[in-house]
Amino acid sequence: MPYIKEERKETLSVEGEWAYGAYEYKANKLLDEFCQGLKERKLIGSLCPSCGKVIVLPRAICGRCHRKMTERITVSDKGTVLSYIVSPPMVKGKYKMFGVDPVELGIVKEGESLIPANVRFDGSDSPFNTLILNAKPEEVNIGMRVKVVWKKELAGNLSDIEGVEPIRG
Ligand SMILES: [Zn+2]
Repeated sequence: MPYIKEERKETLSVEGEWAYGAYEYKANKLLDEFCQGLKERKLIGSLCPSCGKVIVLPRAICGRCHRKMTERITVSDKGTVLSYIVSPPMVKGKYKMFGVDPVELGIVKEGESLIPANVRFDGSDSPFNTLILNAKPEEVNIGMRVKVVWKKELAGNLSDIEGVEPIRG
């Protein structure tokens, strides 16, 4: 199959605002459970007794078989990039991500891009939405191996996972 880049050599960019806040995750009991795991650097998923799929973040009901997922499984903090996007260069005060300014927070430097990605952690079957850190956009690719960048002091909330970074060497 021909690669799409041969057909479309140029990348078009469209000026606009990107409301990342629209992707905020509603807190629930399962999220609490996941966050408790984070304190011990554990990524907890739920296992479907019917199809055997492991979903991270944990879910109460399997989206495929509608069976209750009561069993929990700890998956690896290493995984594979399924998809990613490269943001426009960040400008202080212009964009917000999860309700905060990524430049102000020091997640990214002024003029650098953010790389939100879906990662599938080893042992799980679901995409996990996070950021690719410590990598230049041009070195990121689908299928790239990454590992979690843990916050130095774990607090038991989602920000314990700062993002993922390439596994080098
Ligand atoms: Zn299932």
